[in-house]
Amino acid sequence: MIGFGAGEPDFPTPEAIVKAAQAACAEPASHRYSPTAGLPALRSAIAAKTLRDSKLSVEPSQVLVTNGGKQAVAHAFSVLCDPGDEVLIPAPYWTTYPESVALAGGVPVAVKSRQSNGFRVTVEDLDAAVTSRTKVLLFVSPSNPTGAVYPRDEIEAIGHWALERGLWVVTDEIYEHLVYGSAVFHSMPVVVPELQDSCLVVNGVAKTYAMTGWRVGWLIGPHDAIAAATNIQSHETSNVANVSQAAALCAVSGDLDAVAAMKVAFDRRRQTMVRLLNEIEGIECAEPQGAFYAFPSVKGLLGKDILGHRSATSAELAELCITEAKVAVVPGEAFGAPGYFRMSYALGDEDLAEGVRRLAELFGQAKS
Ligand code: PMP
Repeated sequence: MIGFGAGEPDFPTPEAIVKAAQAACAEPASHRYSPTAGLPALRSAIAAKTLRDSKLSVEPSQVLVTNGGKQAVAHAFSVLCDPGDEVLIPAPYWTTYPESVALAGGVPVAVKSRQSNGFRVTVEDLDAAVTSRTKVLLFVSPSNPTGAVYPRDEIEAIGHWALERGLWVVTDEIYEHLVYGSAVFHSMPVVVPELQDSCLVVNGVAKTYAMTGWRVGWLIGPHDAIAAATNIQSHETSNVANVSQAAALCAVSGDLDAVAAMKVAFDRRRQTMVRLLNEIEGIECAEPQGAFYAFPSVKGLLGKDILGHRSATSAELAELCITEAKVAVVPGEAFGAPGYFRMSYALGDEDLAEGVRRLAELFGQAKS
């Protein structure tokens, strides 16, 4: 089986980070509870890293260290949503966002973007979805699952749009370092500084340092929101594992050489994948500009006879890929976008080429 489903780098965590964790294991202080909001040294290092990387100036007391970016997402909606509050979520979306909103008692509202617009929502799209119950806009760039990266002027327009309507923005910056070609990452509260009092930033070490298993992320925002999120975390999970925090401290206080090296590999695989996919009749794949996912349309293959099967949906077609080609992809249904596949290119070059070759062979047999 060749898996294009993984949402994580295929590289090991850099050695210096692993060594820092090993040293922390031997420290008696690591064996005990520590402050819920995070080790003071880590909160300071995250504040410093945030200034270095996205130019957002925050105090360490505005940082809450969480169990992965995922817990930061959950906290953000728990803190902001009263029952029935609506949260605008650009679609295609990462599956966790709507579930997390619902768990917080909010109502997820998908805002559809178009492939022809690079899967980026516009203020017109947002205007059509906003109601008197809208409380929050979720924003993510680079995006999982589409790899879309918003240019500065669009971020500015969307930020002002939210500001004028008194909405909170939760902005997920976990893929900040994974942008390719001419794409540039911009942080919304830096582009629109007036938004800083009503903006929560989600980030973490998972994607930048190949540290998905260590479970360290963070939430940054105004003091009252961070205090509320810390209270929730105090009763939910307490502090993040100290050894993982020591690893994260080493990661965020170090340089960005490891992610620069990963980026070279991801960029090469990105270009290979897009080229190979576009050679397959029935598939159309736009070039993703960030993260490590391609999001090809497979609409041209729906309803076609492939080895006696006619798949009506991308979910059925994905099933066929597993059974007939031993290739796993995530169908667009999971992201609120039927008719597409999400294919991670965070896998080895050879597996990538072989996996797409198998798809080409399978889909090459499609008949009307
Ligand atoms: N945000 C996005 C957009 C993601 O894709 C992910 C991981 N799939 C996360 C946040 C959370 O990452 P983690 O909890 O591993 O830090």
